[in-house]
Amino acid sequence: MNSTTEKRIALISVHGDPAIEIGKEEAGGQNVYVRQVGEALAQLGWQVDMFTRKASLEQDSIVEHSDNCRTIRLKAGPLEFVPRDEIFEYLPEFVENFLKFQVKNEIQYELVHTNYWLSSWVGMQLKKIQGSKQVHTYHSLGAVKYNTIENIPLIASQRLAVEKQVLETAERIVATSPQEQQHMRSLVSTEGNIDIIPCGTDIQRFGSIGREAARAELEIAKDAKVVLYVGRFDQRKGIETLVRAVNESELRDSKNLKLIIGGGSTPGNSDGIERDRIEQIVHELGITDLTIFSGRLSQDILPTYYAAADVCVVPSHYEPFGLVAIEAMASGTPVVASDVGGLQFTVVNEQTGLLAPPQDVGAFASAIDRILFNPEWRDELGKAGRKRTESQFSWHGVATQLSELYTQLLEPSAKEPALLVK
Ligand code: UDP
Repeated sequence: MNSTTEKRIALISVHGDPAIEIGKEEAGGQNVYVRQVGEALAQLGWQVDMFTRKASLEQDSIVEHSDNCRTIRLKAGPLEFVPRDEIFEYLPEFVENFLKFQVKNEIQYELVHTNYWLSSWVGMQLKKIQGSKQVHTYHSLGAVKYNTIENIPLIASQRLAVEKQVLETAERIVATSPQEQQHMRSLVSTEGNIDIIPCGTDIQRFGSIGREAARAELEIAKDAKVVLYVGRFDQRKGIETLVRAVNESELRDSKNLKLIIGGGSTPGNSDGIERDRIEQIVHELGITDLTIFSGRLSQDILPTYYAAADVCVVPSHYEPFGLVAIEAMASGTPVVASDVGGLQFTVVNEQTGLLAPPQDVGAFASAIDRILFNPEWRDELGKAGRKRTESQFSWHGVATQLSELYTQLLEPSAKEPALLVK
């Protein structure tokens, strides 16, 4: 094996395009993860190719991000947005075009890192066809998700079967928190190799501006009490819990309270429908005056919003990891989050924020108020959050751990155990 093939990695993210705008219609944490991990790995000397599904004719087939890092869009199904629950049938075409790309470019990927169950199926085919080794990150587990939603999609049984198979056959599974690892073991399979490597965040970008400057930029009064939500409009994200909690805040009628809800939506699409529903609830509760729907916030402006806030709320019904929590923490802002999944790992209760039972409006209201009524404690929580993010959740640190894992898997001894015996 020569040194160029040694450090080549394909990150496969069929439905989460790492090169598109983040913050609307199914584009969230996974897209950010793949892009940031890809760029950080490239800085560590890897040749990184990130494969995704082409979703419109206007999209470039190849986007170069940096010298060693690019997004490659393969045709798989119609050239339009397809909801993730409807993509499975197009995966054989994705595999076919992946193989064609390899032939055309005289590359063969010895190692693929797949993201989400759809891509895991692609990785398992590549293992069968050409013996590629596979690292997999779930981003979300069907076995957990289907416990938290009412309408189980048709694809559920397929997904559960694929998720079990990849856990048992991939060279390595990356769990992003100890909680996710436990779920894999208790709900999916006791077989398979799991490492814990968390998600990360850009600790230079988040934390680059202080509260005062941020408020001046956003024209928010110094004495305002700002509660912030950032994320997609999806019922599972629990924005309803947040708006009801703000309505129960003791500051509700103080004129100082502001609720900023950041996230994009498209009218008529699932996120547009959820936004309409939330707006309707805000209206019914009579808190329209204190609520701002800011729309999609770019990664450039987000640090300013996090810094301007007194508290960032992550009220998800379930969250496998939750990048928003660590972005807020990196920005020095305390987090009030649901006591679920990866949030139990990232947010240290009473130290970097507060955890509340999911969907418990009263508990969220009092947690938010505890922080809003105590600015000194808010600052302490914020500082501790920043410290925790610097030490545990930088992309560089995450990519370094992944790089070590890949290197280990690509070592000849890991590839051909028979050689050791000889
Ligand atoms: N995001 C953004 N702009 C928005 C809303 C969200 O850039 O208007 C980003 C946010 O900063 C985070 C990601 O989308 O990096 C959401 O990731 P998270 O893991 O919190 O949730 P997911 O969308 O994966 O469920």
